[in-house]
Parts: sequence; structure tokens; C-alpha cells
Amino acid sequence: MDAEGFVHHRVRLAIAGAGRDELLDIFAQTSEELRALAPDVASAGFGIPSLIDRARGLSVQSVHLPLDDLPFGAVMEERLGLPVAWDNDTNLALLAEHRFGAARDASEALMLTVGTGIGGAILHDGELYRGSVGAAGELGHVTVDLDGPPCQGGCPGRGCLEVVASGTAIGREGAIAAVAAPESGLGRAVASGRVPIGELVTELAHAGDATAQSVLELVGRRLGVGVVNLVHIFNPEVVVLGGGAMAAGDYLLGPARAVLAERGLRPSRDVVRVLAASLGDDAGMVGAGLAALELAVGERSGATWR
Ligand SMILES: [Zn+2]
Repeated sequence: MDAEGFVHHRVRLAIAGAGRDELLDIFAQTSEELRALAPDVASAGFGIPSLIDRARGLSVQSVHLPLDDLPFGAVMEERLGLPVAWDNDTNLALLAEHRFGAARDASEALMLTVGTGIGGAILHDGELYRGSVGAAGELGHVTVDLDGPPCQGGCPGRGCLEVVASGTAIGREGAIAAVAAPESGLGRAVASGRVPIGELVTELAHAGDATAQSVLELVGRRLGVGVVNLVHIFNPEVVVLGGGAMAAGDYLLGPARAVLAERGLRPSRDVVRVLAASLGDDAGMVGAGLAALELAVGERSGATWR
């Protein structure tokens, strides 16, 4: 990404199942490949799905990747020989949405990235809010079901928003719905061997299958319960919903907004807008680029994202 925020090169790699060393090798190798295309690069930025202790420079806990207790920035600076900016991935996605997207001009905003898990970020007074050491904003791990199912990955919680309302939950509920409605489009797709993951449910919902749509309504209403809790705590102007699962669009947004209208307290529920992210999958990357740019120039840049 250049100083005006223009993205010149992008590489997308699957990293599921990679161990720590392999993962760091992939990060370093990818960075080197991009650097070969743009040799005058000044700094690198990383958004990682970790709870971070900024004072100690550690990625302390990462629910979905093997990055626990790792001095991530120092390790990557040594491997790349470049200044490295790094932060929680959803923090950076919200930074990008605030600068260029759905939360533009808001000074109080929240973001949920709904994918394999649910990432969260808080913007307060126009700046990212990080808490005492940098680990704030884990909005996917608020409890919405006291004795609910065990959470995913390394989270010791039960009934977290993430475990009942993520893309993974869409797939799980889709599998249940396919068995309950074998004659539906979803039921027939699963019987024919397609794996009931969130992408399949979303595809069939857009194609008009009522069973797939009802799965998204169920998960969207759960997402709405999470949003109600957060709106009561933070009284934000905007809640941005992003991540891969938002390919479902209004099938998730509509039920989430309906629950907020039913259960939210005034005035918070009346002033907040619940919006889909406008940078899509690029948000985290653009935010990491912004952080790297600001590290390189030592101040907030006037970059505009295109
Ligand atoms: Zn959790």
C-alpha cells in the first residue's frame, strides 16, 4: 500500500492447520515476495487475531492461531529487517472502516467481524480503545448463553457470542436444519455430499431456499442479542458488522436489527446504526497498511483508500 492508501499488490494464502514456525515462515515469505515487487517498502503492518499486551510487546493469547505468548512485532522485525506495526486484526479493520468506510466520521463505534470466530473492536472519542494493556474489545467473547456450549479454540468460556453466532455456528445450525428438512434445498445439498458450512448456507439463502434463510435468521437474531448488550454498554453511533459471514448481507443484518428494535433501550437503540462493513475482506489489510504507514511517517497520514 502506498502513501495515498492505494493497494498495489495482494497475495491470499490458506493457513489453516499451520503450526507456529510454519505460520511465521509463511508471513515472512509472503512479505519477501511482496517486497520483491516493491523494493522501496518502508514498513510492514500485521493484523493478527490475538489478545495483545502492548506494554510487553506480546501476542498473549490467540484463540484460533498458534501465536500465544509470542513477541510478535520483535520476531517479525528481526525476520523482515523492517519496522513492523501490528495490532489485533479487528482493531485494524475498524481503523480502516473509520477512516474510509462504514464508521467514517463517527467518534463512537464498534465492530464485529463474523467469520470462523467473532472478532471485536471499540472506537472511543475517534480513537481505538485498547484497555489497560491492549487486550480490550473481545466482543465475540461476551456471554449470551449462561450455560451454553463451550466456546471455540482457546477460549475457556461457555455460550460466548462467538460460539452461537459466528460463521462456524451458521454451518453447525445448517447441518441440523438439513437433517430436520431433508426435502429443502439445504437438505438436498447436504444429502448430495456438500458440506454444510456457512458459505453453503449463504449461497442457498441467496438462491431462495427458505430453510437456509431460516438458519441465517436464527443466527442473525443471536447476533442481534450480542449487539443489544454492546449498544447498552457503549451507546455507539455505529455498529459495523464485517467478516466473511457478512456475505449473507441482509439475511443476517435484518434479524439483528429487528432484535435491537425489540429489546434495545432508548435512547441508545434509536441513535445507533447497524451497518455492513464497506471495505469487505480488505478492511483488516487496509488497516494494517494504515498502521504501517503511520509507523513509517510518524503521524496519522492523509491517505485515502481506493
Ligand atoms: Zn469465547
